[in-house]
Amino acid sequence: MTYTPAENRYDSMTYRRCGRSGLDLPAIALGLWQNFGHENPEATQREIVLHAVDRGITHIDLANNYGPPPGAAESFFGRLLATDLAPYRDELVISSKAGYRMWPGPYGEWGSRKYLLSSLDASLRRLGLDYVDIFYSHRDDSTTPLHETMGALKTAVDSGRALYAGISSYTAERAAEAVTVAAEIGLTLLVHQPSYSMLNRWVEHGEPSALDVTERAGMGNVVFSPLAQGMLTEKYLDGVPEGSRAARSGSLREEFLTEETLGHVRALAGIARDRGQTLAQLAIAWVLRDPRVTTALVGASSVRQLDDSLRALDNLDLSTEELARIEEHAVDAGVNIWAGRTR
Ligand code: NAP
Repeated sequence: MTYTPAENRYDSMTYRRCGRSGLDLPAIALGLWQNFGHENPEATQREIVLHAVDRGITHIDLANNYGPPPGAAESFFGRLLATDLAPYRDELVISSKAGYRMWPGPYGEWGSRKYLLSSLDASLRRLGLDYVDIFYSHRDDSTTPLHETMGALKTAVDSGRALYAGISSYTAERAAEAVTVAAEIGLTLLVHQPSYSMLNRWVEHGEPSALDVTERAGMGNVVFSPLAQGMLTEKYLDGVPEGSRAARSGSLREEFLTEETLGHVRALAGIARDRGQTLAQLAIAWVLRDPRVTTALVGASSVRQLDDSLRALDNLDLSTEELARIEEHAVDAGVNIWAGRTR
């Protein structure tokens, strides 16, 4: 059936300015990291993404390696663009990234110009697009000069293959260096994409913190895994449900679900209930409490989950008292698997 987007799709979404750029992004965006590969029915994937668009989610986040297998999520989204979304391309901010292993050999991952630009071309072919809106260096590679990595991002922008450039999972120190190098070569970095949630607060730490660095540079923050991959919902409070991400023993390791952490999650769920929210909604409102955070970038394996997350927008205000209660339980839980994935 031909897709016609909901007429009222811009009525209930909140848009936030991305740093000191001219680009507004939705407060909640959808990422296709998991659930959009060959293991899931394409009809379900289509339903989730089109529902997102119907609800004003203008920003869809991808990367070369999303699937499984790597490339599958971009190929799926390319088909969706061709069949359903092509007329609405200009209403969408589509991002991709390169940094993780994509093909064998020395040019299939990390931060070289050789890898980043050939990967971007491959992403554009899978997506069937002339350009992506945002192209990211997906992870820091300290063995490649930042002049080379930032230079590749600048070429991506100057050649029209990307409208904006970003970095992902860079430490505060390396983000600051990247900003300096980018300025030297005349590249403006739009955005940082770090992990951030009530169980993973590394972006707040340090002087300056990663959030401070981006604020000073005029960059926004699209923060990923605000639900800690599902741990900040109530689904794991009575064991690991079949088919859940933790049951698939991939990125959400069962050893993260310690009694201590589940105790904090239970307490946070209680605070959410007192506010008339689900825990997912509180988790999203909490990352968005900081104006330096532009967007909470969520995942979803069903329309129901996405709708649950979207209802966070009905109550984003957190009182001083609520924040103090949350502070006791919003503790780092050792779930930042991305910290160790740089070199
Ligand atoms: P998340 O929102 O923290 O977790 C999403 C998962 O939580 C869903 O797949 C689902 O898992 C579960 N879930 C979501 N809503 C739920 C609800 N209402 N009730 C119960 N369970 C719910 O985010 P994420 O998927 O980890 O990451 C989001 C996006 O961030 C990715 O798609 C990607 O675009 C981006 N990301 C970027 C990087 C990077 O290095 N830059 C790394 C990771 C992610 P089930 O499968 O168990 O249903």
